Amino acid sequence: MQKKSRGGIFVISAPSGAGKTTICKKILSRNANIKQSVSFTTRKPRKGEKNGEDYYFVAQKTFQQMISRNEFIEWAEVHGNFYGTSRKKFEGLVSSGFDVILDIDTQGARQIRNSFSEGVFIFILPPSIKVLRERLQDRKSNTKKDMQRRLKRAAVEIKDYNMYDYVIVNDILGDSVKKLEAIITARRMSSDRVDPKWIKDNFLR
Ligand code: ADP
Ligand code: 5GP
Repeated sequence: MQKKSRGGIFVISAPSGAGKTTICKKILSRNANIKQSVSFTTRKPRKGEKNGEDYYFVAQKTFQQMISRNEFIEWAEVHGNFYGTSRKKFEGLVSSGFDVILDIDTQGARQIRNSFSEGVFIFILPPSIKVLRERLQDRKSNTKKDMQRRLKRAAVEIKDYNMYDYVIVNDILGDSVKKLEAIITARRMSSDRVDPKWIKDNFLR
């Protein structure tokens, strides 16, 4: 089926520690036509994180300059750090036809909701708060204070779950990956992604 050339937009949010990064990494490794938009952040890199792969790690001053030049399609302050999606990098991917995953918080998702009506919004939940705490502990790189802050913020973010089109409870990792792939596959078949010219040329002559 002939598709429109612009890729789909998939906005994924979750309380920190729910497993969003893990799920997205699996999806990306299995699907060459799905890309993740790499965000800019003022947060310091965690162990093993690479500049340009996990994030573009920048100084606060650079981030503020990017805001004033309107270089972000959305940005937000999360857990005391700034995070934003570069307009140029995002448009580059979508206009090349890639389906693009935005791993962003609920504030950013709200901004994208307002400016990209074609976006698909997915919220990932942990099976319980107890499991969320354990997963944050397993990640080790968070200080105790940082962990408390993330847990407090989780409650605020979870309240926004109904702003999203879909909710995935990330219990068994493999199942969650399949569920997210199913949402992406379904979106690819939506009627508004079919090229009207292809219908006309093939069926209506
Ligand atoms: P987020 O990106 O949502 O903050 P991560 O992907 O970093 O969360 O996951 C937090 C921790 O939970 C990591 O140690 C990860 O390996 C683990 N994790 C993620 N998904 C699952 C799952 N389904 N079952 C068990 N552990 C998981
Ligand atoms: P972390 O510090 O754990 O990598 O990310 C913290 C939070 O920031 C997560 O909820 C993540 O989705 C969010 N985040 C990452 N990049 C962006 C971004 O570009 N914009 C917004 N609004 N949030 C982001």
